[in-house]
Amino acid sequence: MPKLTSRAYVREILERHGLQPYKKLGQNFLVDENILQKITAAADLQAGDHVLEVGPGIGALTEKLAQKAGYVTALEIDSRLLPLLQETLGRYENITVLHQDALHADYGRLCSKGPLKLVANLPYNIATPLLYRLLKEEWRQCFKLLVCMVQKEVAERITAVPGGKDYGVLSVVCQYNARAEIIFTVSGNVFYPRPEVTSAVVGLYPYQETLLQRDEEKLFYRVVEGVFAQRRKTTLNALQAALQVSKEELAALGRETGIDLQRRGETMNIDEFATLARFLYNRR
Ligand code: SAM
Repeated sequence: MPKLTSRAYVREILERHGLQPYKKLGQNFLVDENILQKITAAADLQAGDHVLEVGPGIGALTEKLAQKAGYVTALEIDSRLLPLLQETLGRYENITVLHQDALHADYGRLCSKGPLKLVANLPYNIATPLLYRLLKEEWRQCFKLLVCMVQKEVAERITAVPGGKDYGVLSVVCQYNARAEIIFTVSGNVFYPRPEVTSAVVGLYPYQETLLQRDEEKLFYRVVEGVFAQRRKTTLNALQAALQVSKEELAALGRETGIDLQRRGETMNIDEFATLARFLYNRR
C-alpha cells in the first residue's frame, strides 16, 4: 500500500476516484510524515484510547491514530470520500468511518463507553463553531483531550490572554473549560493542495472541575458574549445593553464583587467573568 503522505499518491487516488478537493470543506490534506507524527505524539495515544477524528479526508492521520490508539471513529461529511476511505483504511479493524456532519453529531452517543480524545486537522470553516459546540454545550464531559490543527489566527484567539486584540469569546470559552496551549505551528507546505494560511496545533486539556455550576454557566456565557459584543465599552455599559441589568443591580455588582466595572470587558479575566455571572445568577 503506498504511503498516504505521498503527494503523487494523493493526486493519483483523488483522480482515480474522480475527486477535486472542495475548498469550502477545507479539504487540504496533510502530506508530511513528521507533522502526523508530531500530532499523534501530542495526543499521547495509548492502547485504551478511543479517538474521535473530525474529517479523515483520505485517511492519512486516521491511519496513524489507529496504529497507536485502541479505536478510532472518524466523522466525514463528504460522501464522495467514503469509497476512497474504504480503499485506504478498509483493512483496519479498529477504524469506523461515519458519514456525519461534526456540527450535528451526537457526541453523547459516541462517548457512551467513556471519554474520547479528539484529534483532528479541522476544516477551517468549522473550527470555531465546533469548539463552541463541544465545550460550551453539553458535550464537555465527553472529552479528556482535544488536539486540533486550526488556522494560526484561531489558535492565537484560543490561547489569548486578557487585554489583547485576540482575546474574545473563543478565548474565554476554551480557557474556562480547559487549559489551552499552542503546541507547534505548521507551514502551508505540508498540505495538498497548499492553503494560503499558516496553521497551528492546539492542545486543550479539559478541567475536571469548572468554576461555576452548570446552571450558572448559561448566564456566564451571556455575560461574556454581551461584554465582547461591545468590547470597546465599559463593562458597566456593555452589561446594561446586553443583559438589561438595572442601574441598582450594577451598582451592587461593582460594590459587592470589588470588580471595577469602568474597565473594558476585554480586560476581564475568566475568574472575574465567573464572579460577575455568579453574582447576577444569585440575584435572579
Ligand atoms: N484529516 C485529513 C488530513 O489531515 O489530511 C483531512 C483534513 S481536511 C483539513 C478536513 C476534512 O474535514 C475534509 O475531509 C472535509 O471533507 C472534512 N469536513 C469538512 N467539514 C466537515 C464537517 N462539518 N463534519 C465532518 N467532516 C467535515
